[in-house]
Amino acid sequence: MATTAAATKPKRNRAKEYLKNWVPYRIKRYWLFLIVTVVALVLPFIKINGNHFFLLNFDHKQLHFLFVRFDMQELYLMPFLLMMLFLGIFFMTTLGGRVWCGWACPQTIFRVIYRDLFETKLLHLRKRITNKQQEPDWSKPENKAKEGVAILLWSILALIAAADFVWYFVPPEDFFRYIQNPAEHTVLIGFWLGIALFLIVDVVWLKENFCIYICPYSRVQSVMYDDDTIMAIYDYNRGGHIYDHEGQDSKKLVHNVKELHEREPDAECTACESCVKVCPTHIDIRQGMQLECINCLECVDACTKVMGALGKESLVRWTSPREIEKGEKTHYLRPRTIAYAVALTLVFGALLWMGTKKEHMLLNINKTAQLYRFTHDGKVVNDYTFLFQNTDNKPHEYYFKVEGHPDIRILRPTKPFKLAAGKKAKKIVVLWATKPLAKDTRKDTPIPIKIKAFAVDDPQKIVVERNTVFVYPRWDIAQQHMKKAE
Ligand code: SF4
Ligand code: SF4
Repeated sequence: MATTAAATKPKRNRAKEYLKNWVPYRIKRYWLFLIVTVVALVLPFIKINGNHFFLLNFDHKQLHFLFVRFDMQELYLMPFLLMMLFLGIFFMTTLGGRVWCGWACPQTIFRVIYRDLFETKLLHLRKRITNKQQEPDWSKPENKAKEGVAILLWSILALIAAADFVWYFVPPEDFFRYIQNPAEHTVLIGFWLGIALFLIVDVVWLKENFCIYICPYSRVQSVMYDDDTIMAIYDYNRGGHIYDHEGQDSKKLVHNVKELHEREPDAECTACESCVKVCPTHIDIRQGMQLECINCLECVDACTKVMGALGKESLVRWTSPREIEKGEKTHYLRPRTIAYAVALTLVFGALLWMGTKKEHMLLNINKTAQLYRFTHDGKVVNDYTFLFQNTDNKPHEYYFKVEGHPDIRILRPTKPFKLAAGKKAKKIVVLWATKPLAKDTRKDTPIPIKIKAFAVDDPQKIVVERNTVFVYPRWDIAQQHMKKAE
């Protein structure tokens, strides 16, 4: 007896020491929630050279990405962004399971604010953060009033969160201007209030059912899992078998520690159910991996506390099936994760490269239906419509030159023209042949030329080249007109 007591003491001391330095995942997650929230709120207000970090602005038909502005004509970047999004999801899920859900998803952050901060800490509607199964006692009228306060507080935050979402489509500078004039911006106001209303219904009434039944990510994530994917896992080798097998249809074999020890004398689970009580999606992690698990790691914290007090390691850990089942180290670098990482890097590289190819002006050239015409003094001219667009964020003066043939010159316009930032201008352009260019008497001769358009004030950076043709008429027709003009 004395030996047992002596052996228990250092163990307890070790446990105390361990728990003293232990920082629950919950606290780490709260810090990340704070960082994510601040970044999401501040980012729309940060501008470099008048451009946002990310803005998909349908109003001005622009995409801002990494503080570079692209016009809708330049949306060749969108497929790369979508590829990055999907590859990023595949990579993250294969490596860390539903790490997004537990650590950064707005739904999880909102629920923590509403349930754990408002309902539990502030209004004491719920007794403890560590018991999410116990619903408030709705028979008490004061609890209904408190719930009203919680909904009111959340409604204010929902309006801010919805506005923050809208700011990635309508920049804050426009948003605040538009809402001062609601009658003229009913669509925007409708979207904003609609999103806020959805957030209220979602967070107050749908709760984690959104993650379980609505969120498409929960449906697809399990197919990306493998033996090395990190997730919250119960160690049944140490803890014992509480269920007959994994999954929803498994049967609970033991309900208390006595039953467990009768079946498996060495099993360490105390059957305290702390890991079950704390689970926001109301599952029992000891049943194995389940679609409902949002990787919040609250069960890991709960068991760490229980087992830590006994001087033991937690039975529920954030680890891989390989570590639990085979006792081997997790393989973070494996063909799938390497392939995703390489693909992600390539797409990101391509995106950056495409970004550097951004044209600071746009030019569309249309040749008129009449292939050529003659002026009263016998000149052969071709007419074009040039559509210029200044995609830079300051005004510029534009002009152009003809390359590819020294005898084709500009007749009109005769001088550069100014274009404000973001504006378009249609210009009628007339080119003429300074001398005969072809002497084919059977057909007209198309002559390839290159138009080099540029900003006069910054011709090195703001320059585009377009190919087109100058059509020279049949030589006999050209000669007739030349003679007439003499
Ligand atoms: S089982 Fe429940 S508590 Fe544990 S990580 Fe999953 S959702 Fe969170
Ligand atoms: S918290 Fe740990 S000890 Fe308690 S029931 Fe869950 S797994 Fe068992």
